[in-house]
Amino acid sequence: MTDSTEIIARHYQTGEGHQVIYSGGVIESVNPAEAPEDTWYGPGIFDPQVNGYAGIDFQKDGLRAEDLHKASSGLKTDGCPRWLLTLITDDFNKLIARLTHLKRLRDADPLLRRAIAGWHVEGPFLSTEPGFRGAHDNEAMRDPTTADIERIRETLAGDAVLLTFAPEREGAIAAIKRAAELGMRVSLGHCNPSPQNLTEAKNAGATGFTHLANACPQELDRHDNFLWRVLDSGDLTCGLIPDQIHVRPMPFRIFHRVLGAENIYYTTDAMSAAGAPPGRYTVGRLDIEVGEDQIVRQPGKTNLAGSALRPFQGVQRVAEMLGKPWQEVWDGFSVRPAKFMGIHHELTPGLTTPLCKITTDPTGKLTGVEAL
Ligand SMILES: [Zn+2]
Repeated sequence: MTDSTEIIARHYQTGEGHQVIYSGGVIESVNPAEAPEDTWYGPGIFDPQVNGYAGIDFQKDGLRAEDLHKASSGLKTDGCPRWLLTLITDDFNKLIARLTHLKRLRDADPLLRRAIAGWHVEGPFLSTEPGFRGAHDNEAMRDPTTADIERIRETLAGDAVLLTFAPEREGAIAAIKRAAELGMRVSLGHCNPSPQNLTEAKNAGATGFTHLANACPQELDRHDNFLWRVLDSGDLTCGLIPDQIHVRPMPFRIFHRVLGAENIYYTTDAMSAAGAPPGRYTVGRLDIEVGEDQIVRQPGKTNLAGSALRPFQGVQRVAEMLGKPWQEVWDGFSVRPAKFMGIHHELTPGLTTPLCKITTDPTGKLTGVEAL
């Protein structure tokens, strides 16, 4: 085919040199070859929570295809060719209208179809408790009904969908059950469930926990709090934001020890300031300030409102925090989150797998990632 690309690089896990022929997102062939020491290939980063990028805020009405192209191209440059477009709490009808519009743009555009692997609807069925709600708008939150869930499913048709719920809300357990029946992934988050409530949510079909340790009050009861409950209950695939700001290195390592890396995936939870210079941005109606330190703040408030982490920096920081080579942590930000969503994302010839070219310095540290 005319648009075939040849890559000569080392396999990210085995280190073996390969010539990879790649066309239209599909690996056509893999053959042994002499590859440079510092050039690698692997599956692209898969981010299940992207609220905006490169100055584009997905919560805004009236986005155009070119806006989504700008965000998509910024993500790709930073190593992430595939992601879930994430919308946060708003009036439910507005949220549905936004999803309808964005899905129409995405379905009509081959490039966007490849990049936007599905949708993450984070809210409005979340906890209104201070600390747990994070930057989400209390006023727009509500209890879920099974009809709401069916409406989300109809709007997004057969696409991959991740829903973040607070299971303690009235009607949430029935809604989780309906969402699971309709083939959507349910993750708990922005919530403060009791142990019994957690068990009920898991029995109803919840399989994940969204950005664990965030949407979390500064002070917790040392004997009994939602973090202990989630860690004690197990059986949930937990997301972590590896920017060293949302979760500090020590708890980050402890979560890995308790949960096991196979039950953890990484996400940037990126908002519009990610992949863009420091300055003033928005997340929906919120005005946000982002400094050189990449901390995303509402002016005058302490809570974080998403992150400005770029996907490849996430891999660098995970490797740093865990004291492991980047090769060992790569799947946590590619294969694992995709698998959690039921999406094939492994390096399999003949199947669609967005690839990344990865470069390293003489010490083996990851220095650059580019999605192909
Ligand atoms: Zn959140």
